[in-house]
Amino acid sequence: MSGIESRPVGVDALEEPTEPETVLRVVGLAKSFGEIRALGGVSLELRRGELCALIGPSGCGKTTLLRLIAGLERPDAGSIELQGALISGAGVDLAPQRRRIGMVFQDFALFPHLDVGANVAYGLGRRAGERRVEEMLALVGLAGAARRPVHELSGGQQQRVALARALAPSPELILLDEPFSNLDASLRQQMRDEVRAIILQAGVTALFVTHDQEEALSISDRVAVIRDGRIVQLGTPEEVYSRPTDRWAAEFLGEIEVLPGEAEGVWATCELGTVPVREPIDGDVGVMLRPEAIALDTKGPPDGRPSVVAEVVSRRYFGHDQLVEVELPSRVRVHCRCLGLPAWHPGDRVRVWLDGPAMVVPDGPTVTREPR
Ligand code: ATP
Repeated sequence: MSGIESRPVGVDALEEPTEPETVLRVVGLAKSFGEIRALGGVSLELRRGELCALIGPSGCGKTTLLRLIAGLERPDAGSIELQGALISGAGVDLAPQRRRIGMVFQDFALFPHLDVGANVAYGLGRRAGERRVEEMLALVGLAGAARRPVHELSGGQQQRVALARALAPSPELILLDEPFSNLDASLRQQMRDEVRAIILQAGVTALFVTHDQEEALSISDRVAVIRDGRIVQLGTPEEVYSRPTDRWAAEFLGEIEVLPGEAEGVWATCELGTVPVREPIDGDVGVMLRPEAIALDTKGPPDGRPSVVAEVVSRRYFGHDQLVEVELPSRVRVHCRCLGLPAWHPGDRVRVWLDGPAMVVPDGPTVTREPR
């Protein structure tokens, strides 16, 4: 008998990771406004306690998806389940206030004539109690602010009140529509972290809409990339950033460089080296790289991997890092993102090599070579 077989009965069951519970299940959700198809069959599952970002360009259907889930709009097709119970579809259309879903709007939508406490209590309806209001205000860092008029509050404080109001009735899910877009840049950064911490502490599942890549990647557990009314990729921030589903998703989520390459089966070779290919392919390809996956130095890679000699063409300095444009021996130019120091200057001779994930796409790049 092997060691594994001789383990006591029950140990495997104890060690097996339990599947996180599905809180929201959206299947084949479709919605058109006249001739405009806003959503073309979206399916999405959210697990308990996760924070998921819905990101896509303007007009791709993000808000429509949120409004359908909230019950503010009726789908043409598809279904929505919350905690295993059907709330929309197959003849069911639960009213928004009966869905156990909280909503935070872009402009916070607070009642200006009510004080902070009354705004939070509004979400509780007849169940309103001073204790719950205080509990919620403490959760969002506004303990003791119940009697303050909302118009006296800063943007960040108003957002916390809106969050407290949405969380007060203990919803299963909260939906946030571009929650940070009305805040100025410095406050936005701080509020992202705060909102994430509050959502985690409340243990609620959250879906938020954004069109800001950095925002989606920095505070979410998973990111759903939406384009033309369809989710084209759903994954962790790391997955969607370093293994984008296609060239469009790669470009949407950050800067990319595409080098001409040639593929043979599971490998593709470009000027900077050979990279693995996800789906076997032969012939001309484009090798997509993030600028931070292209390293540069005077000495070359420490581990002896291949590198090429290049010349620095231009440089943009950002303090924490710099974007250095280099010309490769083929005269193709690429950008490398590296630490702010040392400072590189046009004309510097450097060595450049691959230092991060690459993705191979069938459609090769349109390469502009500098004339000699
Ligand atoms: P943005 O980032 O600009 O807010 P979005 O991704 O949230 O965009 P939606 O607001 O969901 O996009 O809109 C998707 C499409 O549906 C757009 O073409 C929009 O013009 C259209 N649309 C949305 N609501 C309506 C409506 N009530 N009547 C007509 N068309 C609508």
